[in-house]
Amino acid sequence: MKEVLAQTQPAIVKNETKRVRELFEQNVVPSYARFDLVLERGEGSYVWDSDGRRYLDLAAGIAVCSLGHAHPEITKALTEQSQKLIHVSNLYYTELQGQLAKRIVDLIAPGRVFFCNSGAEANEGLFKLARKFGHDEGRYEIITTLDSFHGRTLAGIAATGQDKVKKGFEPAVTGFKHVPFSDLDAMRRAITPQTAAILVEPIQGESGVTIATPEYLIGLRNLCDEHRLLLFFDEVQAGHFRTGKFQSWQRILEVGAIDPNRPGGSVNRPYLPDAVSMAKSLGGGFPIGAFWVRDKFSDVLSAGTHASTFGGTPLACAVALRILDVIKRESLAENARRLGDFLISELRTLSKKYPNVLRAVRGSGLIIGLEFEPKLAAFGREEKSPAIQVANRLHRAGVLTVPAATSVIRLLPALNLRRSEAEEGLHAIEAAIVDLKQ
Ligand code: PLP
Repeated sequence: MKEVLAQTQPAIVKNETKRVRELFEQNVVPSYARFDLVLERGEGSYVWDSDGRRYLDLAAGIAVCSLGHAHPEITKALTEQSQKLIHVSNLYYTELQGQLAKRIVDLIAPGRVFFCNSGAEANEGLFKLARKFGHDEGRYEIITTLDSFHGRTLAGIAATGQDKVKKGFEPAVTGFKHVPFSDLDAMRRAITPQTAAILVEPIQGESGVTIATPEYLIGLRNLCDEHRLLLFFDEVQAGHFRTGKFQSWQRILEVGAIDPNRPGGSVNRPYLPDAVSMAKSLGGGFPIGAFWVRDKFSDVLSAGTHASTFGGTPLACAVALRILDVIKRESLAENARRLGDFLISELRTLSKKYPNVLRAVRGSGLIIGLEFEPKLAAFGREEKSPAIQVANRLHRAGVLTVPAATSVIRLLPALNLRRSEAEEGLHAIEAAIVDLKQ
């Protein structure tokens, strides 16, 4: 009987995945290249598929599930608030939206916050802020960087410095141009009398975890000051304590030696961008996005100029506030920093041990990119990009990661990842590397 069960089980599993896949094929717009996994439930940093197989989730919904899965505090916030008030429109005041805005202001600097539902929508808000700011002087251009990612709306793909997201959707929204990341001279040359703002990700996530230097961020601030431009940071992926600080630019400037004698260097002025977009981890899986704007520009978007029906509902704000409470109470910023340092250092050791497979490891806290050697013989056996092949191999080993670029995978785990879970992930990654080396 046991033998029969053992034989029939894989068939049932296959049918279950096949059934859900067919449901999608018939009914869901096929705009995603999905992995062949049907996920059913989660707890902490683990998820289970429809076969009951457990995976260590080092992807956390692409940097979304900041407290992992099924966190009791999130469930409690959702339950309690949903019994009181889920939604009223932004025609009215609600205490929780005001409280969450204050918490964000307190974590960045004096200013104000606009709430929306996603990263792309938060960036749309920044684009409108730039346009309104420059409008009366005929300034509307926004300079972004190559290999950036700013979302999939029409303006989001125009802002994104990657051709692949723009293809087929021409003509592009006007007013965006791209220069190489980390190249201040190129940024300076791109500024015209029409330029209103510069937008960068202090850590480029989608294109493979590339971290700006402190000098670059300071140089951008100085350029913006010189030319009266707004400086925007997209912290949708790297923000919300992932690096050990609330936003990644705060971590970058802390760890980098800021030399006041270097051109552009200054320790006397507190460093601030003019606006910051956020989403993902802010709601831990419940959709919420936001942008913070510095006090002196915080009334540019005056009444009637911008809106979002679901922006900052009491339910979303209750969840986001609870997440901030848990992060503080459980010192999760420190956990992200400590475990991130541990993971990065162990992965760099692996890179030294297997330099022909793992070419580089880049990261800050719990946003980590592993760059594989794309010319490995093992990768030649399949059409799929090396990044997708590595992600698939890790799935087979019971670990979820996120592909980036063609040969980079990202680790973006929950901020409450445990040391034992990090070690489990490292073992699986080393085993995958050894296997690739064959
Ligand atoms: N900006 C960055 C840096 C991102 O990583 C993403 C999503 O991955 C976005 C914007 C878009 O966010 P959303 O998918 O919530 O619209």
